[in-house]
This record gives sequence, C-alpha cells and structure tokens, in this order.
Amino acid sequence: MSRAVKRAFKYRFYPTDVQAAQLSRTFGCVRLVYNMALQARTEAWTQRQERINYNATSALLTAWKKTDDLAFLNEVSCVPLQQALRHLQTAYTNFWARRAKHPTYKSKRRSRRSAEYTASAFRWRDGTLTLAKMAEPLDIVWSRPLPDGASPSTVTVSQDAAGRWFVSLLCDDAITPIPATGAVGIDAGLDSLLTLSTGEKITNPRHERADRQRLTRAQRDLARKQKGSANRTKARIKVARIHARIADRRRDHLHQLTTRLVRETQAIVIEDLAVANMVKNHRLARAISDAAWRQFRTMLEYKAAWHGRDLTVVDRWFPSTRLCSACGALAQKMPLDVREWTCPCGAVHDRDVNAARNILAAGLAVTACGDDIRPQRGTSRTGQSSTKQENPRATKGIPALRAGKMSTSVLTPSGRRP
Ligand SMILES: [Zn+2]
Repeated sequence: MSRAVKRAFKYRFYPTDVQAAQLSRTFGCVRLVYNMALQARTEAWTQRQERINYNATSALLTAWKKTDDLAFLNEVSCVPLQQALRHLQTAYTNFWARRAKHPTYKSKRRSRRSAEYTASAFRWRDGTLTLAKMAEPLDIVWSRPLPDGASPSTVTVSQDAAGRWFVSLLCDDAITPIPATGAVGIDAGLDSLLTLSTGEKITNPRHERADRQRLTRAQRDLARKQKGSANRTKARIKVARIHARIADRRRDHLHQLTTRLVRETQAIVIEDLAVANMVKNHRLARAISDAAWRQFRTMLEYKAAWHGRDLTVVDRWFPSTRLCSACGALAQKMPLDVREWTCPCGAVHDRDVNAARNILAAGLAVTACGDDIRPQRGTSRTGQSSTKQENPRATKGIPALRAGKMSTSVLTPSGRRP
C-alpha cells in the first residue's frame, strides 16, 4: 500500500534577461510587503495592543497598491505578495506558540531572495512552466524526472548568494513503504559527522576540508578589499560560490545518508543537540556542524514520516559520553581528546560509539514505557518538535540514568502513541 506525500523537486533554471529583471523586481516587492506588514503588526501591538491577522494585512496590501508611491507593486504578480503575508502569519503563529523568535525584517543583503507562486499564478503544460506576468516558460534543467503525471501545486523561485537561480516544484507523490526492523542510535560529533550505535562512523563529505580551507582564504581576501570597490564585489561572489558548493555537497551527502537510514531501520533515536552542543564544542567548525545537524534532523523527520518509521528525539541531559553502555557505571571525567576509554567492568569503549549506544538505550526505554508519553501536537515543517516533557519513567531499567535528568519527545508519523 502506498502513502500519499507532498514532495518538493528543486531544479536550476536560466532566466532570460527579461525574466531575471521581472523576478528581481518580484523579490524586492516580496521583501517590501513582508517588512511593511511586519511593521504594521508590530505597531498595532506596541501602540494599541491590537493583534492584526492575515486578512487585515491583506486589506492593507490592497490599499497600498492604490497609492501613487506603491503603485509599482501592481507590476508584479500579486500571488507571491499574498504568500509573503501568509509566511508572516506562520511566523507569528510559531512565535505565539513559543516555537520561534519574533519575526524580523528581511534585509536586502542577507535575506533569501525568493517568491512563492500558487496554482493560480503559473501555467503547467506539457512539462513546461510559465509564471504569471511572463510570456515565455522558464528554461529549467531537468536534472531528475518528476514522478509520472505529477503536476506542481506550488512553485518557489529563488536565487542564491552565488547568483544561481532555482525553482522548486511541490508535487503529490506516492511512496511505497518498505518494511524494516531494528533500531539505531546516532551521536553527532565533530571528528566524525555522525556515529551509529552499530559502530559505523560517517565522515564529512569528500572535499569538504579542502573547500573549507579555500573558504577561509577567500574570506581573508574579502576582508582586505576596499568597501564599495569592484574587487570587493568579485571577492564576495567568490566567497558565496564556495559556501554554496559546501552546502550543496553537504546536502547531497545528508540526503543519501538519511534515505539509507530510513530504509534500513524501523526505530531511530537521535539526541536533541540544542543543549549538548553548547557544552560539547566552542570551536570553529561548530556553526557548520550545527547547521548540518539541523538539516539532518529535518530530513530524518520527514522521511521517517513518509516510511512510517519511529523517530525518537532524546533531550540529552544525561552524560551519554561518560556512561558505560555495558554496565551503566559513570566514569569520572572525559576531556574532549579522550577518544577511547576502558571501564572498570572491562569494556573498552570508543567514545562516540558508546555515546550512540547510550542514546539508543535511552530512546528504547522511552518507547518501552510508552503509556507515559502523550502524542505530539504535531511536527512542524521546520523540524522542531513541539512538545517536550519530563518523563521520569523513561529512565526505568537503566539504573545509571536515574541520577541524570532526562526529558524526551517521541515523533511518530501519524501523531499516535508509539
Ligand atoms: Zn562498564
């Protein structure tokens, strides 16, 4: 039996000059409308303690378009502008639910340049895509086929910092779940990207070390260039290109990895890194490894849901590194440079494999004591788990865990009890 899912397919495309100009204008209008609506909502709240909803901002947009100053908003498709207001609404919903910080203004330089088109604003015919206000279809590079008969419900156009254009097509797809057994715990680290409780270590993507060195050099170059000069612009694009290459390779690597994990294993336990990583490394590679971990978790969450796997996220308040996974004894201290240690019980541990085994044990303890765990309120698309709770019974059966404080949340595809 197959499962219906929404799936995004992303491709590069090469716009004509006219299309590029039209899209750049659209990105600018999207940013402006988002910022103006954010300002209106902020003022309404701070000055009059009033909450403005999506409908009210939509009415504002209609009014803005009628003024002389903002008449240029009519030159672009209205759908991406409406979608920007919807995104702002989502940002506020997440903020009120304490899942996210208060929305911030989109800056010209740093914010993502993108525009979202719903079905009324594009034409999909015989495998060609034409956006509203455009005469010609986009010249898309079909690097992989869309599923048979797929037709996009939403189309997102974007441009990255390196100047490359992308279009992402959200389509209905069907996934046939493959049965799997077994359980695996995963520890995130710096030396190895990930370590599995099976003992397998997954390293960083190939070439990443070399790319990072190139990035450091390019960044140093950029810092030396004079502000506003043509050379500085060139140096900035070079930095952006290297960043983009690292991100692309990293994403491909994580896609392969998460697909494999989800295909092979029924139960997957990961740690919630928010806290653990603060303690774990203050070093330079941290930003990149943090971003990779968030991406890994997001991919794992949606793919686990597609295939009906059980993904458990353990909030790591217990010392998984120092705990012997064989006997449960707690070692004294464990500096970062200790890669291997021997427990008085005789077990010899690789630091990361031992941690992964403890994470797995903690996760399985949680699912075994399932009565205590309430179904989640749902997993948000950003990959944040929306409920976290204390679960004292989860530590049952692992004596050494009793000393530590641990909270857990379980993600199951349908939100039912595990
Ligand atoms: Zn031991």
